[in-house]
Amino acid sequence: MILDLFKLNGKTAVVTGANTGLGQGMCVALAEAGANVVGVARRECSETKTLVEKAGGKFYEVIADLSNLSKIDEIITKSVEAFGSVDILVNNAGVIKRQDAIEFSLENWDVVMDTNLKTVFFLSQAAAKQMIKQGNGGKIINVASMLSYQGGIRVPAYTASKSGILGLTRALANEWAKYNININAIAPGYMATNNTKQLRDDADRSEEILDRIPQGRWGTKEDMQGAIVYLSSKASDYVNGFTLAVDGGWLAR
Ligand code: NAP
Repeated sequence: MILDLFKLNGKTAVVTGANTGLGQGMCVALAEAGANVVGVARRECSETKTLVEKAGGKFYEVIADLSNLSKIDEIITKSVEAFGSVDILVNNAGVIKRQDAIEFSLENWDVVMDTNLKTVFFLSQAAAKQMIKQGNGGKIINVASMLSYQGGIRVPAYTASKSGILGLTRALANEWAKYNININAIAPGYMATNNTKQLRDDADRSEEILDRIPQGRWGTKEDMQGAIVYLSSKASDYVNGFTLAVDGGWLAR
């Protein structure tokens, strides 16, 4: 039956940035589909744990600051210790720094590029090594952005990192498809989370953005849930290297 292809029972999903926002929503969706969830975050994820358990799932937390690589191996080892495998990796954690490009600091550049791109690559590499060892393939889902396609304003490092994510998703698909690992990305549109608080708090910017979204509303973490389950499941086994926009039609404009 087609709906069986979407089931994730017995799979372990590692989700970064699990404490809040889109990451939290994706943890819940993956648990509802049957996966055991490892939440990675730099602060505790008690709210996510409660929501996952309410959905009938199991949740294990790994605390890690993803602006550096020090915990990469530990994330994989602890996930395997907790649930026996790593089958799905969701590279969701990300940071945005807003500053005019002419003044943009080295500190801001490094934290954005390190968190949004460097860690994504090396965590994906560590997860892929584990998936290859397990011999059952796997799914890696990166979180891209509208700024994987567009330039943005006052966010040069974020745009560079998310444009990099789109390319990295393609590059890894080319090399790891032979191991039955699918690497895809989701490009959220403008979603109501901490990431966009500054934009939503600015009445003019907020109106400008809403006017341009064909569906006329900010996205929610629930809007990510269908896409993440699809890309994590057997239903997407022949989808590889693709970035799927969940954007209320923004890119169609
Ligand atoms: P969010 O609520 O700000 O979530 C970002 C997550 O990343 C949080 O869990 C955050 O942890 C975590 N994170 C940031 N730096 C980290 C670090 N050094 N170590 C560990 N975790 C770190 O915003 P969101 O919208 O849910 O963002 C999730 C992803 O979607 C990000 O990659 C973002 O770029 C992307 N995205 C969002 C939108 C949007 O409109 N909201 C659009 C396109 C793409 P803390 O809570 O501790 O900061």
